[in-house]
Formats: sequence, C-alpha cells, structure tokens
Amino acid sequence: MKFENSSSFARKLDQQDPLRSFRSRFLLPRVNGKTALYFTGNSLGLQPKTTKNFVNEELEDWAKLGVEGHVHARRPWLYYHKFTKKALARLTGAKPSEVVAMNQLTVNLHLMLVSFYNPTKERFKILTEHGAFSSDQYAFETQLKFHGHDPEQALIELKPRPGETVLRTEDILEAITTHGPQLALVIFGGVQYYTGQFFDLKKITEAAHRAGAMAGFDLAHAIGNVPLNLHKDDVDFAVWCSYKYLNAGPGAIAGAFVHECHAKNAALPRFAGWWGHNEAERFQMKKGFQPIAGADGWQVSNVPILQSAALLASLEIFEEASIKNLRAKSELLTGYLEFILREIDPARQHFELLTPVNPKERGCQLSVFMKQNGKKIFRKLTAAGVIADWREPDVIRVAPVPLYNTFEDVWRLGDILRQIVV
Ligand SMILES: *Cc1c(COP(=O)(O)O)cnc(C)c1O
Repeated sequence: MKFENSSSFARKLDQQDPLRSFRSRFLLPRVNGKTALYFTGNSLGLQPKTTKNFVNEELEDWAKLGVEGHVHARRPWLYYHKFTKKALARLTGAKPSEVVAMNQLTVNLHLMLVSFYNPTKERFKILTEHGAFSSDQYAFETQLKFHGHDPEQALIELKPRPGETVLRTEDILEAITTHGPQLALVIFGGVQYYTGQFFDLKKITEAAHRAGAMAGFDLAHAIGNVPLNLHKDDVDFAVWCSYKYLNAGPGAIAGAFVHECHAKNAALPRFAGWWGHNEAERFQMKKGFQPIAGADGWQVSNVPILQSAALLASLEIFEEASIKNLRAKSELLTGYLEFILREIDPARQHFELLTPVNPKERGCQLSVFMKQNGKKIFRKLTAAGVIADWREPDVIRVAPVPLYNTFEDVWRLGDILRQIVV
C-alpha cells in the first residue's frame, strides 16, 4: 500500500479497518482531560470494559456461596484453569492440553527450567540472546548456580554483528551448531523486548534439537502480538505473562506451554504441588506425586480466581477478533508508523530504528534509537499526551496495538514528534 502522511489518509485507513470497533471495548487512559495517545500496550495492555463484570461475577459468587463456589459458582473455581485453555491454545498454536494459565512469568520460567534444563558433565550450557530481560537473566544465572555451574562459563549470550542492531537467524543457527555438543538448552525471547525482533522459533527449535538440546521461549512480548505455532514448531516449552498484549491487568496470571511429547513424562524433574496432581485423587491427601498429563501437571497451587476472571474477559475479545486478523492489521499499522517516522526524518539525523524492517521479523513494536536529546524529546512527547516507553540509555519504544490503536493515533504521534524534533 502507498501510504500518505496526512490525517485524512489515516482516517481513511481507520474507516477501512475491519477491526475498528474493538477500540470501544477498552478503557482509554486520559492525560490533561484528553484521551491519551497510548503506545505502551507492550508494557501494560489496556483494560477491557468487560473485565469488571467478569471479576464482579466471582466476587458475587464468593459472597453468595462461600466455599461452595469451588463447585457451584457459575464458573466453578475447581476447574477455572480449564476455561482459559481454548483461547490460550489458539494464541500459541498449541493443543489445549499443552497450555495452562498459572503463576507469574518468572516463576513459570523457573518451573520450566527445573524440568527442561538438565545439565550433564558434557552438556551443560544455556544459549540465549545478549541483553535478555533482566528477570530472565537472573533466572538463568541462578539456575546455573543451582546446578553448580559458573554462569561466566555456562551462559552463552549472542550479540548482533558489529554495526547491526538485531541478530541474524543464520548466525543464531550457526552458534547453536558450533556449541552443539555442550548445549543443554537454547532459550530465546519470542519477540525481543528491547529491539522488537521476532525470532524464528521454528528454525531455532530445529537447530537446538539437531544439536541435542532443548528449546524454550519467553513469549512475554509475543503472545497476543504475533501468531505462534508452538506445537507444530516442536518447541519444548514456553512461558509468558498476560499483562502486556493480553490485557489481563497489572500482575496478571501468567502461562506456560509444554509440548505434548513431554506430557506423560513423569521422569522429568519438577517442583510439584497439589494442583498438578492427578485430579481424581487431589483431595485424598495421599503420598506420592502423580502428575496430570500435559501442562496442567506443572501447576503448583490452586487457581487465583480474580486474576483468572480478568484473563478470561480479555481472551474473549481475542477469540472474537482472532489473532490472524489482528496480525494483518498490526503489520499495516506498524508499517504506517515506520513510514511516518521515515517521513519526519528522511536523512536519519534524529533517530534510527533498531527493529527489523521486515514485517515478518517484528511484532507491533518499533524501537526508536534517539541520536541526541532522547530523554528531552521523550519528556516533551509525554507532556503532549503521548504515553510511550523510555529505555535507558536512548531508546523510545512505541507499540501501536491493533486491538485499540488507530491509524490516526499513529499519524498524531508523528505530527507531535515532528514538531518536537524539526
Ligand atoms: C515483562 C517481562 C518479564 C516480567 O516478568 P514477571 O515475572 O512477569 O514479573 C520477564 N521477562 C520478559 C522477557 C518480559 O518481557
């Protein structure tokens, strides 16, 4: 499509957008009495208007039924983790039995590492991207130490080539092959939180398996943003949070994927709790942990119902919109943002994109590297009603989210930025 940098063109794109009605399903934050230009759905997604009803229903059932709500609530609490499965499976390209909503992201990462990072004397290294999110780095570091390894020796962090901002898939694959015999685990972000690069999960997984290693992914910035095919791609495990693109609210319940091929492997080490135990005997309080087959067998504690209700409200919207349609709009919307940014600064005097230009290699986020006065420009954007995200030392991340951002939002952001920098 041939884009134009004008408000009338942006409005025309909005009129043609088959998903335009979804914006009205969300509560949009306000700044100085005006609707904000919200570009931080990659950090905290917006609240669906239905969330309150879903949470309220559980509060009402708790009030009316007390403990009986476990069985007699409109959505019985005992089975609540089952209600989110279908939609999570669709978003991740998994079978419902391969996914479960539970805990928080980093907790799930640890639980998965307990099962899928099984170092031996020869094979003990973890390979990941350089500059992974801090929490993931701490998880890798402490898991390595837990197994008696020195992270300096055992953690391989791949950097882009000199002068480049993102990793080339060929370089990732080559590194996996090179370190192959020593690799226990290859783990990457699905979409890199800082650069916005969408990694090739299929190729990375294939290479890891060829090398004899496990393959896992942190989908914090991928789920609800890009379509995923975890089952077909043969990914061993994945984890995600639900407060970013999934709009399930601050500190929302997270999730995990375990491939079917590991579903019944009771020999895998795990840190268990009663909610992962054979459902028929859960309340018999007997000795001897028998994991439920599938991702449910990794549950530890009983289900946080209020958080899960908020997740359910949000997933209902994804079911209606469908990730395929969202992705189609997202490519266009982010493509439009990229076009506008180039229009403002054709000579690239003020900023440079870190994110890949190929739409297949990114989600909705663009990471804009500011060449000078980055922080000052960011403050002016904020004062003008733009909610974006500043990352030290000099990057502004902007994520137009196809569920609630418009082409006009993108045009207005460009208009404000142009007035600040030019
Ligand atoms: C957002 C994010 C986290 C946050 O971890 P929590 O356990 O949810 O606090 C971790 N890793 C990545 C890659 C993230 O993007």
